[in-house]
Amino acid sequence: MPGDERGVSAERVDRFLRMTLELPEYWSIVDATLSSRDAEVLARDTRLTRERGQVDITLAPAEGKLPCPECGVASPRYDQRPEQTWEHLPLFDFRTFLHAKPVRIRCPEHGVRTVAMPWARPDSGFTLEYEFRVLDMVKDTPVHSIARKLGVTDQRLWRVVHHYAAAIRRGVSFTGIRHLGIDEKASRRGHNYISLVVDLDTHKVIFATEGRDGSVLTEFVHTMEAGGGSRDAVDLVTMDMSAAFIAGVEREFPQAQIIFDKFHVIQLVTEAVDEVRREEQKEVAELKGSRYLFLKNPDNLTRKQQAQLESLLHVPLKTARAYGLRLQLQEFYENEPSEDALNVWYARAIRSRLDPMKRVAKTVKRHWQGVLLGATTKLTNAVLEGINSVIQAAKSRARGYRRVQNLINMIFILFYPIDRLLATRYVK
Ligand SMILES: [Zn+2]
Repeated sequence: MPGDERGVSAERVDRFLRMTLELPEYWSIVDATLSSRDAEVLARDTRLTRERGQVDITLAPAEGKLPCPECGVASPRYDQRPEQTWEHLPLFDFRTFLHAKPVRIRCPEHGVRTVAMPWARPDSGFTLEYEFRVLDMVKDTPVHSIARKLGVTDQRLWRVVHHYAAAIRRGVSFTGIRHLGIDEKASRRGHNYISLVVDLDTHKVIFATEGRDGSVLTEFVHTMEAGGGSRDAVDLVTMDMSAAFIAGVEREFPQAQIIFDKFHVIQLVTEAVDEVRREEQKEVAELKGSRYLFLKNPDNLTRKQQAQLESLLHVPLKTARAYGLRLQLQEFYENEPSEDALNVWYARAIRSRLDPMKRVAKTVKRHWQGVLLGATTKLTNAVLEGINSVIQAAKSRARGYRRVQNLINMIFILFYPIDRLLATRYVK
């Protein structure tokens, strides 16, 4: 609707668009066109909210001198670049695109610079408002579903996720961090692993990387020291009993106290129960299909499952003995944990004549002090459980993606609030 065709309301439309786009005064709207989708095509679209067509808004900078993006000094034009297009939020269900040719000026002080186009960050085909909408949606919707709803490719949305995740990671402060939790997670059915480092005081993931060997700790220390942290300040590290992590912590944080938290110790025992059961089920038919009964806490079973479990526990099975050892260890944690109680458990486990259980007992003995501290400080359980739920959510948002980096970046997006002010500061 160029020029006169817009009639008396042209000025109002112009003001309306300027306001909604929040344009600085040195940019103006030179054209706005609306094209509707073919009526028949639209009629066949059965969705309740339908894409009705497209709005194209063309912007151009004011005549004459323009402000330098660095210092604001009015500077003469240098040249004009080819037109760029940005998708903006839909306007009344019309997909909306902005078009502009970036203009470069020559500032007496800063030289040749591109005049600010504050509606988007450089190299994005979306406006900032559009990207913020995507980031909001990512909090509860998988990326591929968002892409389908918006009619764009998921690769483009992933680029948005990667950009803001990188900005969040650059902004993580490592100053004053003293208590670390280290955890490993399978990224996809046990094929790939990622390692996470958590600040146990703020409950935030502060570092994540692919792999789960000792080099993870070295990589973390580099990142930490580059981000203002000091390795000497770290006095406590909780983790699972992975030999690689233990060696890594002893090398990088020799002064830190290592703690093995309840979550990971119980996990070891639970795995041992399952190993016993798998072996025994070859001879005892009743155990077929009982995996779940022994993995869950009794309280989390249905009444029917509880009855099944009861009847299995009445048979003198190895699995039942292993399961009893697991429950006893859980009681150790839930009652007042004492060294005596751990000793009682250890003596029973080591004499159990169940190899997987004896193995766990030996591991516990080897890390005795760390296990006891994990029981008495109770520092990590809630933190790790909270983290697990976020990791689950991140996996769902990143579903269908093979790149481990997608999952890592999604974890940061879900863990950190992205407020608008911060986000525009990320525009660099
Ligand atoms: Zn300047």
